[in-house]
Amino acid sequence: MNKKVVEKKVDSTQTDIAIVGGGMAGASLALLLSHHCPDLSVSLLERHSLPDSAATLKLPSFDTRATAIAAGSLQIFDELGLWKSLREHAAPISRVQVSDRGHSLGASLHAERESAACFDGMLGAVIENAALGPLLYRALENTSVRVLAPAEVTAVAMNAEGAQLLWRAGSDETDELKTLQARLLVVADGVNSPLCQRLGVATEEVDYHQQALVTTVGLQSDHGGVAFERFTDSGPMALLPLPRREGIHRAALVWTCEQDDWERLAALPEKEFIRHLQQTFGWRAGRIVRAGQVQGYPLKLSLAREQVRRGLVLVGNCAHFLHPVAGQGFNLTLRDCDGLARAIGRAMAAQAPEFGQSGPGELDLLETYWRERQHDQQLTIGFSDRIPPLFASRSLLLGGLRQAGLLGLALAPALRTGFARQAAGLAL
Ligand SMILES: Cc1cc2nc3c(=O)[nH]c(=O)nc-3n(C[C@H](O)[C@H](O)[C@H](O)COP(=O)(O)OP(=O)(O)OC[C@H]3O[C@@H](n4cnc5c(N)ncnc54)[C@H](O)[C@@H]3O)c2cc1C
Repeated sequence: MNKKVVEKKVDSTQTDIAIVGGGMAGASLALLLSHHCPDLSVSLLERHSLPDSAATLKLPSFDTRATAIAAGSLQIFDELGLWKSLREHAAPISRVQVSDRGHSLGASLHAERESAACFDGMLGAVIENAALGPLLYRALENTSVRVLAPAEVTAVAMNAEGAQLLWRAGSDETDELKTLQARLLVVADGVNSPLCQRLGVATEEVDYHQQALVTTVGLQSDHGGVAFERFTDSGPMALLPLPRREGIHRAALVWTCEQDDWERLAALPEKEFIRHLQQTFGWRAGRIVRAGQVQGYPLKLSLAREQVRRGLVLVGNCAHFLHPVAGQGFNLTLRDCDGLARAIGRAMAAQAPEFGQSGPGELDLLETYWRERQHDQQLTIGFSDRIPPLFASRSLLLGGLRQAGLLGLALAPALRTGFARQAAGLAL
């Protein structure tokens, strides 16, 4: 791993905006800020080093998972000029099929019928995180964003001018500590954020006592761009289309399991795992012929009690960490980041009074951003939090409710379109 600090553009101890954490949230926000507020200086500090070529990024965000990117998020990437390169690595979602194991009733959303919820003729697209990371970091190379990596922020102190950060180039205690003064500090350091704890930002948590089992599977036949959401007795499963690789039809599996089931499943040899998966998922995607290495992610809902203060904003997992079953976490974050960059750009362009002495760190400006984002956050967080218990339950009443919900979706075009637009992040 390359230990030299990758530092581009000006070397300075001051910046307008410092983003701590270069995962999906931080890297996306840096791109959006450089697009909407090109006159501001932005520094992105990431604890891990970046390789000389962004091809093998080893950041937690860009691991073996895949991300379902909704139509609204594709639109945002398109505005950044990234749609063409994203398209090369992504599999389009042309249909979403929702079904409940043990019941014949299901619902589907078709791109051709839900054009109001589509971008470029698709309901969304699925990209492997390992492909998304290099794409974002390559795009950052063409901006004036100052990328500092490895750069671990070890302390922050809020002051009259914004925030002062202490950081060092690496995790070695003997590395020299440096300071950076920012008018706005954006914390994007992920779930269980130590920086938030140090700043006294409390979180509310609901532990689902479950794991998301994640792996890539090989299919005998083409998935045809179908994203499957399947609700089973052992928890909800999503099987998302991936681009073909070396002639193999592939899909990304996210299977929500109880802790005991996860341990048992993760220990199975590939053949046994496939047999069990096929039995539970059924044959809607045809025969499953391969399964990659299985990874587990503990599931909880974690919400920061405050997201803005003067000189401070939280984005990404440290602001809200959601159940992944509905594929909403990153999509919501991207809309937050887009909203924040636009709010700052708007205030700058209008020389608005709220863009006063503290510039991007001005409290009125940050509260305006927060008010504009609250409705979407409440809807999306509520949606992601209510679905898992409903669909994980074996209770007759909840089973009846979910069948009624699927029936509504299957029969009512207006409801279906509303659902599709909400899931696509276009319903606002
Ligand atoms: C199984 C699973 C499947 C998912 N699928 C989807 C999906 O299909 N669609 C969707 O929209 N969302 C999905 N999500 C959600 C999505 O993964 C998150 O929204 C995303 O990971 C947010 O990343 P982040 O940048 O906030 O945090 P992280 O990925 O944790 O990044 C934080 C970064 O901060 C750095 N850092 C930490 N501390 C410091 C420090 N002190 N100094 C400097 N750097 C620091 C870390 O090294 C890291 O790179 C899924 C999540 C899970 C768990």
